[in-house]
Amino acid sequence: MGLLPRPAARRLRGAGQAVTDLYGRHRAVIPDWVGLYYRQPVEITRGEGRHVWDADGNRYLDFFGGILTTMTAHALPEVTKAVSEQAGRIIHTSTLYLNRPMVELAERIAALSRIPDARVFFTTSGTEANDTALLLATAYRRSGQILAMRNSYHGRSFSAVAVTGNRSWSPTDLSPLGTLYVHGGMRTRGPYAGLSDARFIDACVADLEDLLGHTHDVAALIAEPIQGVGGFTSPPDGLYAAFREVLDRHGILWIADEVQTGWGRTGDHFWGWQAHAENGPPDILTFAKGAGNGMSLGGVVARAGVMNCIDANSLSTFGGSPITAAAGLANLTHLLEHDLQGNARRVGGLLIERLRAVAAGVPAVREVRGRGLMIGIELARPGTDEASPEAAAAALEAAREGGLLIGKGGGHHTSVLRIAPPMSLTVAEAEEGAAILERTLRSI
Ligand code: PLP
Repeated sequence: MGLLPRPAARRLRGAGQAVTDLYGRHRAVIPDWVGLYYRQPVEITRGEGRHVWDADGNRYLDFFGGILTTMTAHALPEVTKAVSEQAGRIIHTSTLYLNRPMVELAERIAALSRIPDARVFFTTSGTEANDTALLLATAYRRSGQILAMRNSYHGRSFSAVAVTGNRSWSPTDLSPLGTLYVHGGMRTRGPYAGLSDARFIDACVADLEDLLGHTHDVAALIAEPIQGVGGFTSPPDGLYAAFREVLDRHGILWIADEVQTGWGRTGDHFWGWQAHAENGPPDILTFAKGAGNGMSLGGVVARAGVMNCIDANSLSTFGGSPITAAAGLANLTHLLEHDLQGNARRVGGLLIERLRAVAAGVPAVREVRGRGLMIGIELARPGTDEASPEAAAAALEAAREGGLLIGKGGGHHTSVLRIAPPMSLTVAEAEEGAAILERTLRSI
């Protein structure tokens, strides 16, 4: 990397009147709390590979994969074919009837999960998957007490916001659950920042033990292996293995929220939890985002004893529809056959290295961090440790001007630029994006 020719800087064609009109209509009918990026929001009309085009014909390199929703590539031919063939037969009736793509996808995910005697329940989103995981854990343990990580994000249903530790992402303080927040998800800020890995883990375990000394009958700990909306922050490897020992002593279940980290995105492993407990899977794991490469596919995996602890005759009307499952199967097959996890490790590793080199010359960059194709660039006011959401907002605009779409963190982490391209990203595209980011970071 660094040896390839760099693309010249370019300016976008201005937004057309049609986009401006659409924005006005959007403001008139969509809730104010639905966030949009950019001063002049973008209308995406087409995608191919790692690129998308807006309504004015501008082409962008997509370094956020929608929002980690395009797992493999835009318009991946295998997924497009599977979806259109399935649509030609039947889109969906109901999960009251047998559905072959759903069963086949469940078998593949159950085997990949490493959870013994696993059962898979499909949902239409990450929020619904986490909601179901919380339902299962509280029913299994007959308790509404949940442990969650500070700075976490788990979705926007009433129960998901009740375990979301990133408070500014929780629209309500009313909680249906008793939630206690544990330190450990975020490494580089907070009371234990600067400790060695081992001392950081010891401090977090002591914090957990302290909480459990005062609370009884906790149902589960829910945690993202790498916090996504919280700014792509990873704890040291092994944290959740150390937590697991404590949880097991109390009979508390471990729910791994793999909505952002599953399917090999972190490069080293298929699941994020594997960086923490090579020998033992969580009790429950949840997935969504790019599992259907853009189709609304999420789900929960748990061993039969936990999954079957509720006996209500229940289903999700749309979860696991033949069309989303067909997309999920084609996507997973492509990802495994082309070793996109290995690609995420290799290309992501090069990209992080390159961005660290760029950052060394830019005082506004506090840290470049990440794993595989999940990379965060934290910005701060030069010469201070203070977060700089303004710099991140300016960077998003400048990157877009340069033809690159990126994301940013939520809540207290709007100063973190988030990079999570489709996992088929090539070295040349990584270089193209890094060159635009270099110009962007130097310009802010
Ligand atoms: N869990 C995590 C870790 C997430 O990042 C998100 C969404 O960003 C969710 C759950 C919620 O998923 P969805 O938006 O599909 O409901």
